[in-house]
Order: sequence, then C-alpha cells, then structure tokens
Amino acid sequence: MKNILIFLVVVLVIGFGVASYMDTPTEHTDELSVVTSFYPLYFFASEIGGEYADIHNVVPAGAEPHEYEPTPRDIITMEKSDVLILNGGGFEPWEHDVLENLSADEIVIVLAGEDFMTREFEEEEHHEDEMHEHEEDHDEHEDHDHEDEHEEEEHHHEGLDPHVWLSPEKAMLMVEEIVKGFVLADPAHESIYRENASALIAKLQTLDADYRNALSVCTSRTIVTSHDAFWYLAEAYELEQLPISGLSPEAEPSAADLAEISTFAEEHGVTHVFFETLVSPRLAETLAQEIGAETLVLNPLGGLTAEEQDHGETYFTVMYANLDSLTEALGCTL
Ligand SMILES: [Zn+2]
Repeated sequence: MKNILIFLVVVLVIGFGVASYMDTPTEHTDELSVVTSFYPLYFFASEIGGEYADIHNVVPAGAEPHEYEPTPRDIITMEKSDVLILNGGGFEPWEHDVLENLSADEIVIVLAGEDFMTREFEEEEHHEDEMHEHEEDHDEHEDHDHEDEHEEEEHHHEGLDPHVWLSPEKAMLMVEEIVKGFVLADPAHESIYRENASALIAKLQTLDADYRNALSVCTSRTIVTSHDAFWYLAEAYELEQLPISGLSPEAEPSAADLAEISTFAEEHGVTHVFFETLVSPRLAETLAQEIGAETLVLNPLGGLTAEEQDHGETYFTVMYANLDSLTEALGCTL
C-alpha cells in the first residue's frame, strides 16, 4: 500500500512537470543565452538584453581580468550559449583556444572592442639579443621586465591597447557591435534590443558630455595611474596619462622606471597618484609617499568587487566616481 502511494505521487509530480512545461513553451525556453568575458561587456549586454537574455559573465566578482582563465564550467556554458561576447584584440588570454573549439555556425561571436583599439604597440620580444634594438621605440613605462616569468604565458597585450571601454565614445561603438550580435541570434526581438541599445547609448552620450564639461578647465592635465589602462580616456579629454606599471597590472616597473616616474611627476606638479580596487595599492602608495602626493581610486572597470556589486555599483556609477577623482586630482573648477 505504501509503495503504491509513493509510486502515484511520483507519477503525479512528473506528469505535472511535463504539463506545465508544455503549457508555457515561450515564456522561459526561448531566453537568449549570452556569455560575456568581463564586467563592462556583461553590463552592456544586460542593458541590451533586458528580460529576454540570460547573461553569464566569465570573470567573477573581485577577479582581475588580465590574467584570468575560464573554468571548465565556463567553457561548457560558452559551448551552450547563443551569443559569446569578448573584448578581443588579445585582451582575453584564452580567446584563441576557446574560439578554436567553438562552432561559429551555432554561436554568434562578437569581438566588441577589437575594431576600436587604435593604439598599437610593437610586439614584445622575448629574445635577449632583440630586446635592445626595440627599446627606443617603447615608452619607458610600458617596458616589461619579466620576460622570463611571462614567456610561458605568452603575454596577451602584444599589439593593441585593449582598454577601449574606458572611453565613453568607444563604449558607444562597442554597444553597436553587441546589439548586432543580439539581433543576429534572436531576430524576433530585434526592435526591443535596438531600443535598449539606443537608451544605453544616450546615457553614454550624457556621460561623455559630463566628462568633457568637468575636465575642461583644470590646473593640471597629467594623471599618474596604477596601470596603463586610461590612455583612450586621456586621449578623449586631452589629458596625459603616466602609468606606473604596464598594460597589465602584473607588468611591474623596475626601480629605474619608478625613479623616472617620480621625477616626471614632481616636475609636472602631480598632487595625486591613482590606485585601483582589484590590484594591490603598494606601488601607488610608494610613489605617492616619495613625491608627497595623496592617493585616490581610479577604477579601470576590469571588474567589480563583491562589495561594489552589493552596493549596486554599475559601469555608470564607477565612471562618475572616476570623474570625481579626476576633477579632484586635477583641480578642475567647473
Ligand atoms: Zn588593464
């Protein structure tokens, strides 16, 4: 008797499950599955996709994206996705390996930032005899002193500066690329995706105008940053960026580099040194102490920390906090 009861209950539950699934085939089964590599792309995709997309971000909260490798679970999620959105241009160290194994027939792949990476570098040389010939072409502060450590990793920043998302103008172009991917994978919701993208672009235009206004009249235009992430932003608003470390936070400066930066910073009356949330502030603090400057956060938005997420921070709140830091450090008067 007991066994029969259990059997009946199981059949009922299964029957109910199937029935409810079949009654509502359009409500949850056609959600577009989207994977993004890191936070700014996740934010843009979420704004565009709204309720029609389920978006998974590869780099977790609090992790620095430059050296991050996806987990096996991430890879499976990518394989099952409809749209995969990367920055491109070598920013994701795993781009090549992953794309090689994905079927481009079934997954729409968007390299959202690559076309807008207008700042090029000479490829890094790992052979000692060739190092010296190329030295004069490098900016001193972007030289990397860790050929030995990085040889196996094959440094992923060769060629292009990937930090396009920090320029609101370039971010608008990235949004245009991302929405193309959504429309290609899910043409049924094209008008909604385009409407959402337009609203996002309008916010980016306001952000751009606010930056332009706030940074128009300042006592200094030199920013000393933790790593070489703000070149496109500096270019957009006629600032000059002096990075302490290289294109990746791991590319640390030599003692000689550091001495040179501190001389330059003193000569240019630098009063603030910027540090970032996902990287140790040690170098920025050392330099600030040496030149008698203060430190302030300038967030390159490689990702949010769990705490920032809990506080409801977004691409926009961080960009506006960055603008406050910039106007304070540069003595801007509007
Ligand atoms: Zn970076």
